[in-house]
Amino acid sequence: MSFPIFSRWMRPASVAVFGLACMVWLSGCATTHYYNVTDFHTVVIDAGHGGRDSGAYTKGRHTRLLEKDLTLDVARRLEGKLSDAGFRTVMTRTRDCYVPLDERARISNSRHKSVFVSIHFNDTRRRSVHGAEVYHNGEGTWQLAARIERALATMPGGDNRGVKTARFRVLRKSNGPALLVECGFLSNATEANHCASASWREQTADRIAQAIIAQRR
Ligand SMILES: [Zn+2]
Repeated sequence: MSFPIFSRWMRPASVAVFGLACMVWLSGCATTHYYNVTDFHTVVIDAGHGGRDSGAYTKGRHTRLLEKDLTLDVARRLEGKLSDAGFRTVMTRTRDCYVPLDERARISNSRHKSVFVSIHFNDTRRRSVHGAEVYHNGEGTWQLAARIERALATMPGGDNRGVKTARFRVLRKSNGPALLVECGFLSNATEANHCASASWREQTADRIAQAIIAQRR
């Protein structure tokens, strides 16, 4: 999914300012756990779209890639890596089926001490735009979102597009920490070629997993 209005408002320098502002604000806040979640043992992995909802897709001369297929592939890879690292994992879908957004959030909300990670691929009319974006819902997830963003920025052809907030429904409806990772832009020809590669998707899943593992206390 793509929300251009948010796509540039938080570059690395402003992320640092935002983080500082958060710390100042939270110094007077009673719920100190709000800022930095580290105490979680379950990761709810959400493969975006599915079934009748294909999400974004590649256009032009490229082999047609559907976002729903790519998200499921990365989610499966991520699930294996996090299981191996000792996390409990829950997949909101394991096949090509439609799962309503509220159902995805409900699954997340039913899990104690969990982090919800929704996997997506991006699309925009500005074909030159590339790189990963990580959105979070503010429930203690800024640091984890920043870890993932930094990790994905090191991908071949990657770009650090910053950590963002947005009122995506799955983030709004999640009661606990929730993230949405846009792994890359299908609208960018070079990045679409990367997305078509299983080894690139494996590296993407690995970087997300390593960031989650590093975040756990
Ligand atoms: Zn999407």
